[in-house]
Amino acid sequence: MSSAEQVLLTGGSVIDGTGARPRSDTAVLFEQDRILAVGPGAIAEAAADARIIDVSGCTVMPGLIDSHCHITFGEPASNDELFFHRPQSTSMLLAAFNVQKLLLAGVTGFLDADCIFDLGPALREAIEAGIVEGPRMAAGLNALLTAAGGTAGRLIPDTGQLGYAHVMGDRDEMIRTTRQQIKFGADWIKIHVTGSLPNSSGELTVWSLDELRAVTDTAHALGTPTIAHCRSAESTRLAALAGVDLILHASFLDEHALDAVVAAGAAIAPTFTFLANLIDHGHLVGSATSQVDLFRGEIDATAAMLRTAFDAGVPILCGSESGFALTPYGHWHARELELLVDTMGLTPLEAISCATRNGAIALRRPLDSIGVVAVGAAADLLVVEGDPSIDVAVLGDRRRFRHVFSRGRDVDLARPWPERRPLPGEKVGQWAMRPLTRDLVDP
Ligand SMILES: [Zn+2]
Repeated sequence: MSSAEQVLLTGGSVIDGTGARPRSDTAVLFEQDRILAVGPGAIAEAAADARIIDVSGCTVMPGLIDSHCHITFGEPASNDELFFHRPQSTSMLLAAFNVQKLLLAGVTGFLDADCIFDLGPALREAIEAGIVEGPRMAAGLNALLTAAGGTAGRLIPDTGQLGYAHVMGDRDEMIRTTRQQIKFGADWIKIHVTGSLPNSSGELTVWSLDELRAVTDTAHALGTPTIAHCRSAESTRLAALAGVDLILHASFLDEHALDAVVAAGAAIAPTFTFLANLIDHGHLVGSATSQVDLFRGEIDATAAMLRTAFDAGVPILCGSESGFALTPYGHWHARELELLVDTMGLTPLEAISCATRNGAIALRRPLDSIGVVAVGAAADLLVVEGDPSIDVAVLGDRRRFRHVFSRGRDVDLARPWPERRPLPGEKVGQWAMRPLTRDLVDP
């Protein structure tokens, strides 16, 4: 292999992703997708014709890994839009357009655990084949739901597939669908363990332990991990007991659920960003304010117990739930780090580890083979002006990014931000926001 492909970054600080203190005035040498040397000695190891980049004043760190990103949703403003106004072919083109924004935002790896139609594995393969420019991707197919539904209420059909949902009839169908999804390239099997039902506030557990075990045992037998959407303590406890590998949200976690998570060795991706964006900024984009207090309570209650989980050694992953109008691609991936610091009291370095080193779990890679700046690890690197170990918010400011290296390749950050016009029929029109009564016209 020609040494012309070596790149040497000199003069910057290095945050290696493991939680270790930053090392100042050091160097990182990599060739294609492999880090060859880290530390002052890297300079001596570099080939004579290595490309040398002075990154003084910058921090070199692993690229971000977003463990909860819905790349195929296309930023819908409502479930109606997501479920009924997204033709399959258009959705694929839109996902291919949107995924480049992740790289521009410093995200070099992500997990999309449930896609609409069957787009996820195809997008992953197109990225790997060089057809579409994007980060490393781990992909699921549809989320498995019971007929009680998921987060879209009665829009979820009683059987069959719609949007991100594949509705399971009985235990046999759960086992069969799990096997089929793995056959068609799913890296993860996603289960919606809770769903919103009329006459109940919050989400209810809509799977039994036996059903969860049927899916998880089947997936594990085929070497595939499972991931579960759990917006209650009981659902989190059942998911952990069933052997689910990664739990999303873990809302309202309690001690029983925590004990089960610790005993099972499951990981958690809290995903506060969607809730926090609605609370803090929803008024700017016409969000319903009725949920603000509910969401604030959910974050407060969950963060305190997640801190306990973190202290007990539960791996915490960083996921933004990008993909909705409240979380458009490329804008909010790093906000989750700020929220881990602000709500769970993690240090910036701890939050960075959640968003880098721990992301190996989401990508199904061995720990320390990706998401770290270490010899032998993948060359997914971010070079940012400033010191994220003091303030993680700098990671949310693309103007501070000097380089993003994806698989060792320098991503073109100089290009304009990808903009587009609306597609025909993409947005759901509304006749009115409220009934036009006579009183309104003539008070
Ligand atoms: Zn999600």
